[in-house]
Amino acid sequence: MSAESKDLSYFEGKIVPSSDAKISIQTHAFQYGTAVFGGIRGYYNSKKNNLFVFRLLDHYKRLVNSTKIMQLQFDKTPEQLVEITLQLLKESNLKENVYLRPIVYTSALQLSPRFHDVKTDIAIYVLKLNDYLDTQNGLKTMVSTWTRFSDNQIPTLSKVSGGYVNSALAKSEAVQNGMDEAIFLDARGLVSEGSAENIFIVRDGVIYTPTIPSSILEGITRRTLLKIAEDLKIKVVERDIARSELYISDEIFFSGTGVQVAWVKEVDRRIIGNGQMGPITKQIQSLFFNIVRGEEDQYKNWLTPVY
Ligand code: PMP
Repeated sequence: MSAESKDLSYFEGKIVPSSDAKISIQTHAFQYGTAVFGGIRGYYNSKKNNLFVFRLLDHYKRLVNSTKIMQLQFDKTPEQLVEITLQLLKESNLKENVYLRPIVYTSALQLSPRFHDVKTDIAIYVLKLNDYLDTQNGLKTMVSTWTRFSDNQIPTLSKVSGGYVNSALAKSEAVQNGMDEAIFLDARGLVSEGSAENIFIVRDGVIYTPTIPSSILEGITRRTLLKIAEDLKIKVVERDIARSELYISDEIFFSGTGVQVAWVKEVDRRIIGNGQMGPITKQIQSLFFNIVRGEEDQYKNWLTPVY
């Protein structure tokens, strides 16, 4: 972090130096993955000298919904979490692109995997983050041998820490096979999503993306792109997608807070389209990046300025 900024976190009800935000090895969530978390980006616009947090309230609504699905005891509202986060960012005095990680975790020092009757806490930390995956050069991907878990195994609409074991297996398998990212199929064998991102395909000028029952996490970026596409008058259909449709798509792209909008060049060693970023991906990606940097007035209600 730059000289004038401070490395602070929100921990046990206070904003503290990150070096003081430490949990015990006996922490319940550390044993069992019984935590829910979020991933939120802030984009620094040097011309406007401001840091814009993208869809902050929507991210906290999803976090609170995640606690509800899992029955975590948690009584803060999304609006209160927005206030805490803005205070944390102001005091941190960051003038760069950031990634926020709020996590609600079972903080008791106690045994027995469960969600009820365990004390919870929320922590929020901030990282400097530019690209997580390359957004310009095209990603090499493979369909994972790991199946995305179903809603009846681990609720898919809750961003729950334990569920990321599934993502970690798929990601490691992909990278160890020389790929950048994995694509999960759901329990029915239909396309679900990436290890930490939603997926879109383009065929004959129409965008398709899997529906919520395909075991996806309902991405805030996914929702953003559905709206952007509508505004750009590009037809989008949410429907089941078969694996072999991936191979004959004209374009494929991922969406997510980490990945932003990144295009896929290859799936299972088949080149997608002509192996270049497609025109629809280009249009969506370029509007997306303008929006998050605060350069599209029409979408400024998605941004919360920090300063
Ligand atoms: N799916 C999974 C499994 C994820 O971890 C993420 C990242 N949060 C996404 C999709 C994309 O969600 P969002 O656009 O809200 O970041």
